[in-house]
Amino acid sequence: MTLRGAGDGLALHGAGAPLRLLLVAEPTTDTALVLVLLTNRFPHAFLELQVEVGQAAALARLAEDPFDVVLVHVPQHRAPGAAAAEEVRAAHPATPLLIVTGSTDSDMTLWARVDGAQAMVSALPGDRAEDRALRYLDLARGLLDAQDAPTCAVDPEGRIVAVNLAWRDVTGRNGGTDELCGVGVSYLDTCDRADLDRRGSGTPDAAIVVGGLRRVLAGTLELFRHDYAWRSPDESRWFRVQVTSATINGGRGAVITHLDTTNVREIEQTLAYQSMHDALTDLPNRALLVDRLEQAICDADRRGLGVAVAHLDLTNFERVNHRVQYSGGDRVLVQVAQRLLAQLRPGDTLARVSGDEFLVLWRDLDLDDPEEVLALGAGLVTALEQPFGAADLPVPVTGSVGVARHVTGRDPERTLSAARLALADAKTRGPRSVALFTQELEEAVIGRTTLETELRKALAGNVTQFVLHYQPVVDLTTGTVVAVESLVRWEHPVLGRVGPDRFIPMAEATGLIHVLGGWVLDQAVRDAVAMTHEGRELDVAVNFSVLQLNDDAVRQVQQVLETSGLRAGRLMIEVTESAFVEDEDAVVRTLEALSQLGVNVAIDDFGTGYSSLHYLRRYPINTIKIDREFVAGIGTNVDDEAICESIVGLAAAVGAATIAEGVETAEQYAFLHSLGCQHGQGFLWSRPVPVDQLGAAIAACGDVPVASARSRTSRTSRTSRTSAGPRTPR
Ligand code: C2E
Ligand code: CA
Ligand code: CA
Repeated sequence: MTLRGAGDGLALHGAGAPLRLLLVAEPTTDTALVLVLLTNRFPHAFLELQVEVGQAAALARLAEDPFDVVLVHVPQHRAPGAAAAEEVRAAHPATPLLIVTGSTDSDMTLWARVDGAQAMVSALPGDRAEDRALRYLDLARGLLDAQDAPTCAVDPEGRIVAVNLAWRDVTGRNGGTDELCGVGVSYLDTCDRADLDRRGSGTPDAAIVVGGLRRVLAGTLELFRHDYAWRSPDESRWFRVQVTSATINGGRGAVITHLDTTNVREIEQTLAYQSMHDALTDLPNRALLVDRLEQAICDADRRGLGVAVAHLDLTNFERVNHRVQYSGGDRVLVQVAQRLLAQLRPGDTLARVSGDEFLVLWRDLDLDDPEEVLALGAGLVTALEQPFGAADLPVPVTGSVGVARHVTGRDPERTLSAARLALADAKTRGPRSVALFTQELEEAVIGRTTLETELRKALAGNVTQFVLHYQPVVDLTTGTVVAVESLVRWEHPVLGRVGPDRFIPMAEATGLIHVLGGWVLDQAVRDAVAMTHEGRELDVAVNFSVLQLNDDAVRQVQQVLETSGLRAGRLMIEVTESAFVEDEDAVVRTLEALSQLGVNVAIDDFGTGYSSLHYLRRYPINTIKIDREFVAGIGTNVDDEAICESIVGLAAAVGAATIAEGVETAEQYAFLHSLGCQHGQGFLWSRPVPVDQLGAAIAACGDVPVASARSRTSRTSRTSRTSAGPRTPR
C-alpha cells in the first residue's frame, strides 16, 4: 500500500524526491491518522509512506528496499510492537527510527528513538473525520474573519452562503442593506433592488456590480473589479468591489469583497499633487507648467492671442544659502515666490523648476509689441529689488530673466528652451538683466554650441588641435629678449584657426579650462626648459584663468616644475585683474602658495578692471602688465599716456616691474622707456610665433633699434578721450 501525503488533500509539498518512510503497522493501525500526524509534524515535506503489516514483512522489505525513516506503530502496553522496534533498530542501526504510540487510535504520539532514549516529536489529539472537517471549517472562517474587507461567498445562484465579521459589521451598520447580512439572501436580487432605488440607496453602481457578478458566475470572467464612491450626508468613501470565482457547494460560485480604498485614494491624490508641485513653495513644478502651457497655447490659438514664458534665475543664490544657512535660503525662496506671484494676473502660472529657477507663463498677451513682453520680464526683476529677510538679516536677491514669445505651431518645449537661451543672454549682461529671445540670438547660440561641442571634442581625446605660440618679451633698456609669453592657439581641422578670445571664455564657462590650462602649463614649461638666448635662459609666462587658481594649480605647478627641472623663478603666471575682483580667499591663497614656490606672478591687462591699488598692496605680485589698449593710445591720447605713467609709478611704489603689451611703434617704445617701464612686447619686435620659429623671431628682435637715452619724449596733447571713466575689461 502506498499513501502519498498529498493524496489526503493536505498540504504536503516540497521540492525534489519525497522522503520515503516505512510504517511497520499492526493490523489495527489507522494509517491515515499516522499520515495526518506526520504531516502535522512535517508540514513542508513531501512524504511517501509505505506500509508493511508485521515485523517480518517489514524486515524483508527493508532488506531489499532501503528507506529514509522507519516508523513502528507500538500500541501502548503492547509488547510485539516494541519488539519489532528493537529488531528493526538492530538490523538497520543507521536508519532513523520513529515510534508511533497511542492508547486509542485517535490519540497518537510520535517518538524518536535515539540511542535507547525516546523523545516526543509530535502528538495528535483525538481526531475523527468529522472533527477534522470542523477544524478546517473553523480555520476557513478564522481566515475570512481576519480580513478587514467585508467579504461574502455566494453560490452559483448568487445566494450568500457565508459572510465574514467585517461584512456583518458593515451591513449591520448601514441600515437599508441589513438583509445582506443574512446567509441565504440573494446578493443579485438585493443589488438589483438597490439599483432600482439608487437615489436613496447610496450604492448607485449596484447594476454594474451585479453585471460583473453575473459574468463571473456564468464563467465568462474570472475576476471582476469595480471602484465606486459611497456617499452619506456626512461622509464620502471609496470602495473597490472585487468578485473572484470560487468553487462553492460544488458549483461555480464567487467570493465578493468590498474593500475600502478611501485612504489609498487619498494617498494617490496626494502623490498626484506632489508630482505636480514644488514642496517648498507649493508652486506648480515644471511638469504642471508645461501642461498649462500646452493648454494655454490651444486656447490662445483659438482666441488669436499670444502666450509668453519667462525663465528667471536668481544670481548667486549659493551665497544666500551660505549667509543664512539652507533653512534661511528656503525662507527667502518662499518670499521670492510670493513676490513673483504678486506680479501675475489670474490665469498666469508661476512654477519653481529648480533650486533658484522659476518659470512664468503669461497668457492672453498681445505679442506684436515686444516691449510689452520685455516689460513683464522687467517686472519680475524689479519685484525682487527690496531685500528679503531671513535670520533677522536683510538678504539682497537679484535675478536675470529671459523671455520668449510662443510662436504658433511651435513645440511648447522649444518656447521654454528659447526662454532659457534668452536667460543665458541676459546673464552675460549682468544681474538684473532681461533679454527677449530673437532669431538672431538663436543663431548666435547655435554657432556657440557647435563651437562648444568642437572644443569638448578637441580636449577630450587629444590636444593636438592646440598649439602654443610664443611672443618675445624685450628688456627696453638693452633691447634683448629676456622672456616669452605663451599664447594658446586652436587650429580646428575644419573651422580653421579659432582665436583665444573666442574659446578661452567658452572653456571657462564649461569648465574645460582645467584640461586646457593644464595642457598649456605643461607644454609651455617643457618648451621653456631648452629656451636660451645668447647663452641666457629665457623666462616663460603662462596665462592662467582665475578659475584655475585653486589648490590644484599649486600642486600642478609644483609637479610640472619637478618633472621638467625648470627653476621656479623662470616661470611667471599671468592673471587678469578681474581675477582679484571676486576677492576670493582661494585666489589669494593660491597666489601666495605659488609665490612661495618661487614662481612670479603678474597682473595682466592692468588698468582695465577695477581699482587696483588695493590688490597691489595685498597680493604677492612681481609684475604688472600695462594693457595694450593704453599703449595703443601713446602718441595720440593724453589720458592713455597718463595712465601708462601712473601704472609705472604705481608699480615702482610697490616694488613691481612693468611689462608694456602691444608695443607696435618706435614712438611707443621710446615713450614707455622714458617712463621707466622695464619690459615690452608687441609686433614691433615680434608677433607670437610657433616654437620652431621662435629662434628666428628672437634673432630678428635684435634688428629693432634700442631706444636711446631715458628721456621724456614728446607728450601728446592732440586728442583726449571724451570719457576718462573706468574702462570695461575686454
Ligand atoms: P593677453 O594675455 O593680453 O595676450 C596678449 C594678446 O595681445 C595676444 O592675443 C597677442 O597676440 C596680442 N598682441 C601681442 N602683441 C601685440 C601687438 O603689438 N599689437 C596687438 N594689437 N596685439 C598684440 P591673443 O593671442 O589673441 O590672446 C588673447 C588673449 O587670450 C590673451 O590676452 C589671454 O588673455 C588669452 N589667452 C591666450 N592664451 C591663453 C592661455 O593659454 N590661457 C589663458 N587662460 N588665456 C590665454
Ligand atoms: Ca597675458
Ligand atoms: Ca594682456
